Amino acid sequence: MFLFKKVADLQRYLQKVSKEKKTIGFVPTMGALHNGHLSLVNRANAETDCTVVSIFVNPTQFNDKKDLEKYPRTLGADIELLSSVQTTVLFIPSIDEIYPPGLNTSLDLEFGALANVLEGAFRPGHFDGMAQVVHRLLDIVKPDRLFMGQKDFQQLTIVRSMLKQLNHKTELVVCPIIREKDGLAMSSRNRRLTPFYREKAVLLSQILSKVKSNIHNRTPESMSTMAMKTLTEAGFKPEYFEIVDGITLQPVKDFSDADFIVALTAAWAGEIRLIDNMILKEEKNAILA
Ligand code: AMP
Repeated sequence: MFLFKKVADLQRYLQKVSKEKKTIGFVPTMGALHNGHLSLVNRANAETDCTVVSIFVNPTQFNDKKDLEKYPRTLGADIELLSSVQTTVLFIPSIDEIYPPGLNTSLDLEFGALANVLEGAFRPGHFDGMAQVVHRLLDIVKPDRLFMGQKDFQQLTIVRSMLKQLNHKTELVVCPIIREKDGLAMSSRNRRLTPFYREKAVLLSQILSKVKSNIHNRTPESMSTMAMKTLTEAGFKPEYFEIVDGITLQPVKDFSDADFIVALTAAWAGEIRLIDNMILKEEKNAILA
């Protein structure tokens, strides 16, 4: 595995890769890697010739300073994990490499309602920061394919919109959510859960599954209300549990209202904010197919 810290060194290497007509797959991460991240790397290895993984805890997408400070950083273990799945290149830039003084990295794109609902309503500015760093990283790596996880469903929607608005040549590849044995969606933040909440955290995926198996008997609104109540009674502080059109992210009133329907939730488990989602309905030709 090659490790680069400087944009110029990485680009020199990648220019050689492109000259050899090899394809580049890119997996952007914030580190504290787990099997969810590795599934993206394995997919990139299978579909492209050269897999580039970046580890960069992007300050511009954190609306909460404490969350940024406490974000787990485990570089030694990350390097070991990436070596075990034969990553070609690891890019670990400093903040100055990504946002060099004097370089305008701001992004003048409009995501409209996509960025204001769900996560956007609770984490103001988060998606602007996320889009800014993904755009900057794409500019540096120039991958043929970008591999991202369904775990961050709204993020995907916004990256898809960004690529479309820019008429970008990079293809977005969506990878399924990898879960722990009990169903908890893997996340870098899970390691900060207390034993009490770690045990309870399975409830998020259990409720999502329950909603999925009841879509023909209950209305989306009644399911959302039930989910918020169940989470609250179990000791979580849920921020939202919404059932939405997977393309517009607007709530659906009835399960026949859209071909692609997703349930998404965010809940505080003590000090840790967890997110999860599940596709409830996906007709053929739907966007994630
Ligand atoms: P992060 O390091 O949290 O920014 O995540 C980097 C990438 O890994 C994003 O595209 C995430 O959606 C993806 N990812 C995170 N957790 C999972 C998971 N449990 N399963 C699949 N992909 C994931």
